[in-house]
Amino acid sequence: MSDIVTLQGVCKAFHSADLETLALAGIDLAVSQGEYLAISGPSGCGKSTLLSLLGLLDSPTSGSYRFQGQEVATLSRNEQARLRNRHVGFIFQSFNLIGSLSVEDNVALPLSYRDGMDKAEIRSRVREALDSVGMMHRRQHFPSQLSGGQQQRVAVARAIVGQPALLLADEPTGNLDSRSAESVMLLLRDLHAAGATICLVTHDPRGGEWAQRTVQMFDGHIVADDPGAASRYWRHAQVTA
Ligand code: ADP
Repeated sequence: MSDIVTLQGVCKAFHSADLETLALAGIDLAVSQGEYLAISGPSGCGKSTLLSLLGLLDSPTSGSYRFQGQEVATLSRNEQARLRNRHVGFIFQSFNLIGSLSVEDNVALPLSYRDGMDKAEIRSRVREALDSVGMMHRRQHFPSQLSGGQQQRVAVARAIVGQPALLLADEPTGNLDSRSAESVMLLLRDLHAAGATICLVTHDPRGGEWAQRTVQMFDGHIVADDPGAASRYWRHAQVTA
């Protein structure tokens, strides 16, 4: 399997006043196409910073980051933004839907930044994405008319509508009750089964039980990387097979 992303010796420092925080202190990580990776660790250990780098929202202070084989540091900001728009889908803890837009228009948003996609194609892609998360029947609703779990499903549709190479989820169940959380995790599992590559950040080690591979972070370092941590993942796969 080819690697979607490869990080070698990646460091990220933040400077505020005369204080330097080394949020990432030498990260080596490769994620292959089709993998489902959970990154866990205590608050402040660098998980969100790592996810921002993976999603091309921020850049390393040093080290090498290759996205689909391309060294990201050699790309201009515009090229990085294009790569992000085409190849990365984000799911956030707080859904980040736009309240004044309908469900359909929220999901269409990432496609509207792309050149050369006509309205009919956007409409059909949006409907396909909404269908795959079971939210077609709510397409004309507004976010405030939906439950948290439904809003997160719409956010997942928005993340996958552009058929990204990499799906990044930052604590996607953090604002949900346990039933909605489980249904969002089942949705991610189904997307993975259909071929998606997923990196999930969670402070809760139980979140990692859904993934195939778990990476533990502490203090800016990867302290464990377990490719066989699939117990619950496979148990769920068998139950629903
Ligand atoms: P986690 O997601 O694991 O909670 P973060 O990646 O958010 O951890 O943060 C890692 C460290 O970097 C923390 O010490 C945090 O305070 C620091 N940090 C993160 N973002 C910034 C920033 N924009 N400016 C200064 N420090 C930051």
